[in-house]
Amino acid sequence: MISENMVKVRNKISAACQRAGRAENTVTLIAVSKTKPLEDLKEAYAAGARDFGENKVQELVDKMPNMPGDVRWHMIGHLQRNKVKYIVGKVYMIHGVDSLRLAEEISHEAVKQGVRVKILMEVNVAGEESKFGISPKEAPTLAEQISKLPGISLEGLMTIAPYVTDSEENREIFAKLRQLAVDISRKNIDNVTMNVLSMGMTGDYEVAVEEGATYVRVGTGIFGERNYQI
Ligand SMILES: *Cc1c(COP(=O)(O)O)cnc(C)c1O
Repeated sequence: MISENMVKVRNKISAACQRAGRAENTVTLIAVSKTKPLEDLKEAYAAGARDFGENKVQELVDKMPNMPGDVRWHMIGHLQRNKVKYIVGKVYMIHGVDSLRLAEEISHEAVKQGVRVKILMEVNVAGEESKFGISPKEAPTLAEQISKLPGISLEGLMTIAPYVTDSEENREIFAKLRQLAVDISRKNIDNVTMNVLSMGMTGDYEVAVEEGATYVRVGTGIFGERNYQI
């Protein structure tokens, strides 16, 4: 089932790319494997998945050594500062950076390990109170502050759009994130590029691709419903 789902999702991404006049290879599918057992991840890997997303540090570090070394791991969840040291140097990218204090911690650990960490700034575009992420208004200032930290490269923006039944409702959110990335990149901040837009999940990734997503994070659409009981 997982490999069939991968094919379906890939086809939908290509169709969305075509509608938007984008090259297909500009979008990377992140298989969001949180709560799922290793055998599911292995099936996705066999079907071609190389980018995996997890939202809990413990689960991420447990799964990592059991998967092939060419997997790119994405930390997509809210990251606590005291857990930064467990993932720096191991993950490919950290998507949810929304405060200077967290960025400083990542920078500190990166310098200690002599590595460079790719991060994305999480923006709460819709202003939902339940969500993490910095407001669009504060984002440019945070980008400038982060740019001064050693060991970090800020590569773009990430957002978690509201849960909606009609994905069209999120089009404006995605368009706003893209515009914000354009605005920030126009500032030509040293060390900061805005080439990555991580946006779109199972319910709305096609719209996100039409609006410029370079990473889509799809869990349910690949692995099926999550069971939080186990
Ligand atoms: C769980 C999760 C996803 C995937 O959600 P689905 O709706 O299952 O595709 C994407 N992004 C983040 C940040 C998540 O926590």
